[in-house]
Amino acid sequence: MIARHRLTAWFGRSIGARIVTLSLGLLFAIQVASFSAISASLGQHARSRLPEQLQVGERVLASLLAQNAQKLTQGASVLAADYGFKQAVLSNDAETVASALANHGARIGATETALLASDFSLHASSGVASSELLPVIAQLTARVAAGGIPSGVALLGGRPHQVVLVPMKAPVTVGWVLMGLPLDASLLADMRSLSALQMTLLTRAGDTAPWQVALTSLAAPLAVGLADAVWAPSVGASPATAAAPTAAALRTVEVGGESFGVQARWLTPSVLALVSLSVDEAVRPPRDLQIALAAITLLGFIVFVIGSLFTARRVTGPLRQLAAAADRLGAGDSSTPMQGLQRADEIGGLALAFEQMRVSVGEKQAQILKLAYWDALTGLPNRVQFRDAVREAIATQGEGGAVIMLDLDRFKHVNDVLGYRVGDLLLGCVGERLSQQAVRDGDLVARLGGDEFAILLRRADAALALTVAERIVAAFDEPLALEEHTVDMGAGIGIACWPQHAADADALLSRAEVAMYAAKRRTAGPLMYDASIDATSTQMLSLLTELRRAVEKGELRLYLQPKLMLESGRVGGAEALVRWQHPSRGLVPPMEFIPFAEQTGFIRTLTMWVFEEAARQWLALRAEGLSLQLSVNLSTRDLLDPELPQKFGALLGKHRVPAEAFCLEITESAIMDDPHRALATLNKLSGLGFKLSIDDFGTGYSSLAYLKRLPVDELKIDKSFVMSMVEDLDDAKIVRSTIDLAHNLGLTVVAEGVENAKVWDALRALECDEAQGYHMGKPMPAADFCVWSTAWSAKSAPRASSAPATVLH
Ligand code: C2E
Ligand code: CA
Ligand code: CA
Repeated sequence: MIARHRLTAWFGRSIGARIVTLSLGLLFAIQVASFSAISASLGQHARSRLPEQLQVGERVLASLLAQNAQKLTQGASVLAADYGFKQAVLSNDAETVASALANHGARIGATETALLASDFSLHASSGVASSELLPVIAQLTARVAAGGIPSGVALLGGRPHQVVLVPMKAPVTVGWVLMGLPLDASLLADMRSLSALQMTLLTRAGDTAPWQVALTSLAAPLAVGLADAVWAPSVGASPATAAAPTAAALRTVEVGGESFGVQARWLTPSVLALVSLSVDEAVRPPRDLQIALAAITLLGFIVFVIGSLFTARRVTGPLRQLAAAADRLGAGDSSTPMQGLQRADEIGGLALAFEQMRVSVGEKQAQILKLAYWDALTGLPNRVQFRDAVREAIATQGEGGAVIMLDLDRFKHVNDVLGYRVGDLLLGCVGERLSQQAVRDGDLVARLGGDEFAILLRRADAALALTVAERIVAAFDEPLALEEHTVDMGAGIGIACWPQHAADADALLSRAEVAMYAAKRRTAGPLMYDASIDATSTQMLSLLTELRRAVEKGELRLYLQPKLMLESGRVGGAEALVRWQHPSRGLVPPMEFIPFAEQTGFIRTLTMWVFEEAARQWLALRAEGLSLQLSVNLSTRDLLDPELPQKFGALLGKHRVPAEAFCLEITESAIMDDPHRALATLNKLSGLGFKLSIDDFGTGYSSLAYLKRLPVDELKIDKSFVMSMVEDLDDAKIVRSTIDLAHNLGLTVVAEGVENAKVWDALRALECDEAQGYHMGKPMPAADFCVWSTAWSAKSAPRASSAPATVLH
C-alpha cells in the first residue's frame, strides 16, 4: 500500500517516469494493434483456406486408402502367383494352404486372409469367422462383376479393414485370394504426416445403429462429440451402395466450445471417415510467428525503456541541476555558476535565464547586504552591523569594553526649520566628528537610526569610556557650519560597559540606551549606566498610574511666581507652576514628572487641570482685589491638540473668566516640533484673546524673524542668560540684543531667573519690561500669594520710583 503510494508519488513528481511510461504505453498499443491486425488477416486467410484444406485432406485420405489397397493387392498377388501355393490349392493340400495364408498374411500385415474358389465360395480362411467374411466377399464380388477393382473398406470383427480380392490364375482363374488389413494408427500417422488434419473413423453396426469411434487422432471425448455432431441429417444419407467411398458435405461444428471444420467421407454405409481441423487452431497464428512477435515486442520494450530512460535523463538531468541551482539561490548561495550553458536547446536557454537571474540576484544580494549593514546617509555601519560587532566583541574579548550611545538634541527642529537636506548634512558631519575627533583607532562608530549614534569601545573600561564621552561633548562644543547656517550641537550620551553592566549585546545596548535617555532627561552630560537608572525607568511605569491618581485625589498644587513690572515694581502677573504633593515623597518638583507626563501624553490632562485651577485662582485673587494676568505653560502635545482652543474656551465659559486674564507660555521647541500645526493652534488661541508668550527664548533655533510670523505678544528670555548676565559679557550681549529686537518687533520682554538686585538693575537699565525670579519671589502656594503681594506692595509703594531690588536688600 505504502509502496504503491510512493510509486504514485514518484510518478506524479517525475517527468522521466512519465516519458518512460508514455513511450512504453505507445509501444504496447502499437504492438497490440499490429498483433491483432496480423491475427485477423491470418485468421481470415486460414478461414478462407479451410474448405480447401479439408478437401485436400479428404483427397489425401482417399489416396492413402488407395495406396493401402494397392499394397495389399500386391501382397495378395504375390501369394496368388506363388507356385507352391498354387500347387497346394490345386492339390487341395488344405494344411499348406492354411499355413501359407496365415504366414503370407502375417508378412504383409494382413490380419484376415482367405482363399475363395473360382465361384467365389469360401475355401479356406484365417482370422475372423467365415460368417463375417461372407458379406465382405459379396461386396467385393459385386465389384468384380461390375468390372471395378475389387478392393474396399469393410467391417470385420466390428473394426474397419481394408480388403482386396486378387485372382489366382493357372492360367485361367482357379480361385481368389482375399486379404484384409485393419485400418489402424499407422493410417492416422500417415495422415498427420501428410496434412495437419485430424482424422476420425466412425463405425456402426447397422444403418440405424449409433456411431462408434473406431479410430481417431483426436482426444477420445472430442472424437465422440464430433461423431454426435456430424450424425445429423444434414450429413446426408448413407450412400445407397458402398461401392465407392463418397464425399459428403463439408461442415463446421461446435464441440466442447471449440469449432471444427469437418469433411466427412463415406467409406461404406457403416464406416464414415471424418477429416477435421480445429478452426481456432487454424486461425491462430503459427507458433513461430507468435514467438517472433513476442520477441520483437520484448526487444522493443527493452529498446524503448533504455531509449526513453536516456531521453528522460537528458531532459530531467539538466532540469534537476537547474532545480538544485534554484535551491541554492533560494538558500542564498548565488556564487556557484550555472551548468549546461553550452546547450543550444530549450534547456540551454533555461539555464542561461537562470544564470542571468543568478547574477542579478547576486548583485541585488550584495546591494541588500550593503543596505543591511551600512547606513547610506553617513556611510557608517548601521544598527545591525553594530549589534553584530558588539556581540562578537563580547564573545572574543574577555577584558571587557564599552558602548557609548548618543541621541542628538533638537535634531527634529533642524529638519523642520532648516530642511531635510541640512538635517542630512548635519548627520553626516556628526558622524565625521565622532570618527575623527572622539574615538580611538579600532573603535567602531555607527549610526543606529534617526539621530542616534553609537560607539563600540573595544578593550576599554568605564573610566576610558567616560573620557571618550567627554571628548564627544568637547567635539560638539564647536558649532557645526552647514552651508550658511551655524548649528549648535548637543546630545544625550549614555554609557554601558561589559562585563559589569551586561553579559550580552542586546542587554548591553539596551542599558546604554537607558543611560542615554536618563542623560537626556537630566541634561547634565554623559551618564554611565547604573542599576538605579533602570529602577527609575521601572518607577516611571508606576508613575503614570500614580499621576492619574494624583489628579483624581487632588494631590496637585498650583504655585504662583510673581511677574513684576521692572519700571514701576508693580506686580503685573504671576506664572502658574505645578507641584505634586506626593503622600510619601513629599513635594515633588515639576522636572520630575513634567517630562514624563510629556512623553506619555498625560500632560494634556495636567494642562487642563492647571488651566482650570489657574482660572479658579484668578477669580480668588480678583475677589481679593488683585487683577493679575496668570501665565500658564503649554507643552508640545498641547499645541498639537487641535481641540485645545475649544477646551480652553469651554473652561473660560464655565468659570466666567476672560481670555485676557491669561498668558500662555510656549517654548520655542514646542512650536518647532510641528510649526504648521502649532501656528494654527496659536492663531486660534490668539483669536480667543489669550496673550501668547515665547518661553525659554534663546535656547532653541528659532530666529526672531520666524517668530515675527507668530501671533505672539511676549518674549521670555531664558534664565540661563539672565542669571549670569552681570558676570558674563556674552550673556549680557544676548539679553541686550534680544530686548532690542523684541521691542523692534513690538513684543514685550520678560526676563526670568532674576536672582539678585544687580540683575534687576541691569535689566531695568536695558529697558526690559518685566522680571521674574527668586530675588523677588519664589513660586509659592496660591493661598500665600495674596499675603506676599500685599507685603510686596507695602514695601515697594513708598518708593515706587526706585528699584524694588533695593527695597528687598
Ligand atoms: P519654566 O516654565 O521655565 O518655569 C520657570 C522655572 O524657573 C520654574 O521652575 C521656576 O521655579 C524657576 N525659577 C524662577 N525664578 C528663578 C530664579 O530666580 N532662579 C532659578 N534658578 N530658577 C527660577 P519650576 O517651577 O521648577 O518649573 C520647572 C519647569 O517645569 C518650568 O520651567 C516648566 O517648563 C515646567 N512646568 C512647571 N509647571 C508646569 C505646568 O503647569 N505646565 C507645564 N507644561 N510645565 C510646567
Ligand atoms: Ca514658563
Ligand atoms: Ca522659562
